[in-house]
Amino acid sequence: MPLENMKKMLDAAKRGGYAVGAFNMLDYNSAKAIIEAAEDLKAPVIIQTSAKTVIFWGSSAIISWVRELVRSSTVPIALHLDHCKDVQLITECIEAGWSSVMIDASSKSFEENLNLSRRVVEMAHPKNVTVEAELGAIVGVEDEIHIKEQDAHLADPQQAIRFCEEVEPDCFAPAIGTAHGIYKGEPKIAYDRLEEIASKTGVPIALHGGTGLADEVFKKCIALGCAKVNISTQLKYAFIDGFVAYHNAHNTQYDPLKVIAAQFDAVKAGIIGNIKLFGSAGKA
Ligand SMILES: [Zn+2]
Repeated sequence: MPLENMKKMLDAAKRGGYAVGAFNMLDYNSAKAIIEAAEDLKAPVIIQTSAKTVIFWGSSAIISWVRELVRSSTVPIALHLDHCKDVQLITECIEAGWSSVMIDASSKSFEENLNLSRRVVEMAHPKNVTVEAELGAIVGVEDEIHIKEQDAHLADPQQAIRFCEEVEPDCFAPAIGTAHGIYKGEPKIAYDRLEEIASKTGVPIALHGGTGLADEVFKKCIALGCAKVNISTQLKYAFIDGFVAYHNAHNTQYDPLKVIAAQFDAVKAGIIGNIKLFGSAGKA
């Protein structure tokens, strides 16, 4: 199956009242775990790459792994570049074969963000590549970019409406009070703002900072218009803990493939739990 258009997946999710999980891959093993979990549950899925991961492996290695995995897959899969501030890297990924990209110009002024996001949409859409854009500042650490709580600001609904009208993103990431990384306290989600932005823009919303949110929070956000839920930090933990736990339990074995298989199982189990929670199982 070729890569699927993310807008098509998210529009169907929004209509159906569920969300598509967007999971950050780190290597071939984790990409395979994401796809197998989605296939087991017959769920559409989004594989995400951070800009850091693309730079680490190179875009050609990543696209070859994903193409190989997707070729024999039976569920809709999009390959999405997560938070990217660098238009050159976005261009590289589009040319390499990513089916979706995120332009994160949220640290710039509103007008600069709007213009740069618009430019990326104009570049991507003729190639059938979808675009996610961000407004407001999501607290936490993403790709070595630290946003302190006092610097975070929520997306303004009026600005969000104008932004979506002029940029026409396929998916919109307004800051609504979630955070990247691990939550230190109870997150304060601005549900009223989410509801207003989702209903007035009509654009499927991406929920960032999914790791650590309570099940009811996910369900409420999805009901209010979040059609894409990003999970990264939880998978980083599963990726490392799955590996370490196996080795600690078999510390004289030194059989790398068994350790890699244990890591695969840990990552896959995490993804299965999330897909069930987001309601996308059986929607492929
Ligand atoms: Zn994010």
